[in-house]
Amino acid sequence: MQKPIIAIVGRPNVGKSTLFNRLVEERIAIVSETAGTTRDRLYGEAEFAGREFIVVDTGGLALDERADLPGTPAAMLTGVHNQAQVAMDEADAIIFVTDVEQGPSPDDFEIANTLRASKKPVYLVVNKADNETRRQNAVEFFQLGLGEPIPISALHGVGTGDLLDQIIARLPEEIPSAPSTIPHFAIVGRPNVGKSSLLNAILGEERALVSEIAGTTRDSIDTALMWNDAPLVLIDTAGLRKRGQIEAGIEKYSSLRAIRAIQRADVALLVIDAVDGIMAQDQHVASYILAAGKGVVIVINKWDLIEKEERTMIEFTERVRAQLDFIAYAPIVFVSAKTHQRVHRVIDTALEARAAWQMRVPTNELNELVREATARHTPASKGKRHLKFLFATQVEGTPPTFFFFVNDKKLVHFTYERYLENQLRARWGFVGSPLRMIFRNRREEKGAA
Ligand code: GDP
Ligand code: GDP
Repeated sequence: MQKPIIAIVGRPNVGKSTLFNRLVEERIAIVSETAGTTRDRLYGEAEFAGREFIVVDTGGLALDERADLPGTPAAMLTGVHNQAQVAMDEADAIIFVTDVEQGPSPDDFEIANTLRASKKPVYLVVNKADNETRRQNAVEFFQLGLGEPIPISALHGVGTGDLLDQIIARLPEEIPSAPSTIPHFAIVGRPNVGKSSLLNAILGEERALVSEIAGTTRDSIDTALMWNDAPLVLIDTAGLRKRGQIEAGIEKYSSLRAIRAIQRADVALLVIDAVDGIMAQDQHVASYILAAGKGVVIVINKWDLIEKEERTMIEFTERVRAQLDFIAYAPIVFVSAKTHQRVHRVIDTALEARAAWQMRVPTNELNELVREATARHTPASKGKRHLKFLFATQVEGTPPTFFFFVNDKKLVHFTYERYLENQLRARWGFVGSPLRMIFRNRREEKGAA
């Protein structure tokens, strides 16, 4: 399923991230079982009234780090303005956050002017309305010309439920992503890392027979090709800009586009510029790939520009591993889209990652592994209670998802979960794919057949 996207826009300090955390708080508890997903969260999956959706805090999406520096109001304004633009293009609903303490500011009017053209529902939220006086002051924001202001207090959680009710009522139905047997790979990464060049280089490979198909969505262009006689689809997030449909500047905030593409893909190719190394934005996209449960290949591009000595690649790998430690299972490929060095490895590795992402292991072998693993390394116990593993099974679906039935799941320590995951990986690899580990309580059945 492609979940609808709700974008939060607004100038700095109005409370966007506070609201974001409030909207996704319940889910964070679940997702944070996977280390790394809580850092600098800008994307969160949330659920309300039975609807699942994605919340994006566009405030943190500024890719041009200069725009974030204090004392550059012009750049800042362009930043917020662009976020509003992109939210209009890419989101299904937009929450425009303002601050009742400050009153409507010139920046608010700028953003409102942009958003007024939106065909998507826009919710004008007046935040920090912590008390009755402030709630009444919210009427000032009628001036923005976006309809009735909705007073909330993100900090205290007042009004956020009503806000979600209104949003949910108008969200589009979930779009079922067509179950496809053809591999779908999304090429994602910051601007200028070489996504388009890489796409072209792949298409130029001998084993690629290209038949460009029209994009199935407005977000990205899909390219279908035959790779070693098997079909696959590349979802390109840079292509639109290259075709001149998006004005310069806006591409800086194309993370929403990346989210859409990742949702549609089996495996994401996270392209990194070897010269720049890993930047904050790369970590954000990586954590979203993980949260979406997709496979991942780290593609270090522009390797031709790096002066190489004996240990260059090893040292580079160590740095990448440290900075993207929450996707330690991701294979790393060093390429040059320019010279075509190892470009074919990108697709071959992505195909391997997809195979891992779809892999199913036999139940008896899984249980045998759990038995051996627990015998070798006894789970810690709390007082008199000992953690016991009763039965393990892999359930339908991607990425590989394992249920472990135990006597008391509260006894499962995070480090033990890690240990088990490492055992699974040592046995079956799962290179390039995340794993989901779910623990369930089950009473030991006595005397049952
Ligand atoms: P952002 O820059 O728009 O993401 O804003 P933040 O979420 O970081 O919030 C900026 C400041 O406003 C922080 O000090 C928050 O604690 C505060 N804040 C956020 N929501 C509320 C609210 O509902 N009431 C009050 N009084 N303060 C709030
Ligand atoms: P995109 O914005 O991620 O699609 O990046 P582009 O494909 O447009 O590439 C950005 C710039 O990097 C262009 O000037 C490319 O020629 C250059 N570039 C891309 N790949 C490589 C590479 O492997 N080596 C070198 N030296 N330059 C590259």
